[in-house]
Amino acid sequence: MSRRPARAYIGLGSNRDDPTGQLARAVEALGRLPNTVPGPVSAFYRSAPVGRRAQSPFVNAVAALETTLAPAALLRALAHIEAAHGRRRGRRRWGPRPLDLDLLLYGARRIQTARLTVPHPRLLQRAFVLQPLCEIAPISRLPPYKARLRLRLRRLGAQRVMPLDRPGRPSTAPRSGAAGTSAPGQGSAAA
Ligand code: ATP
Ligand code: CA
Ligand code: CA
Repeated sequence: MSRRPARAYIGLGSNRDDPTGQLARAVEALGRLPNTVPGPVSAFYRSAPVGRRAQSPFVNAVAALETTLAPAALLRALAHIEAAHGRRRGRRRWGPRPLDLDLLLYGARRIQTARLTVPHPRLLQRAFVLQPLCEIAPISRLPPYKARLRLRLRRLGAQRVMPLDRPGRPSTAPRSGAAGTSAPGQGSAAA
């Protein structure tokens, strides 16, 4: 049975072994997934870790995909890319990692299994996810949250995320009017 393509949003994060390079290669790997057409990719953002603060800052982004992979198959594919980037499972959660790929949204689906919760359960608490997500996602493509996401983002103003300029790609991130985009230094984001 063929499945209708769904728009999935993937959260990317890295704070080890050249985080910007890790994310750039991960975006390419996402674009090579079977049964998947790559969509827009946000700017890359720098955010400070929370939870385990004695670690390097993270670089985060969000990428959109049109995919007919089922959610569980997509999660397995994400784990495969993480492993190819040297991610070893079984380590402390929220610790340093070369690559973290989270399935943030899968169309309008709500999924709750032992391995997968969608929408991602901590999506609304993380400016480093909401900022890039709101950058690339038209509100109409963000069920079940719609406009609540931007409201949430404004409320997370204490979390600082900084857009990075990447060579060959002008940053498309908004420079004002959204949480923390213009403030330097410290933040309160987690991976
Ligand atoms: P967080 O989930 O708070 O972002 P994390 O990304 O560090 O933390 P991981 O160690 O990468 O957590 O993943 C732990 C488990 O979360 C995975 O084994 C996976 O099965 C499960 N999981 C549940 N829902 C999702 C989702 N939407 N995206 C990715 N992993 C998920
Ligand atoms: Ca993860
Ligand atoms: Ca994560």
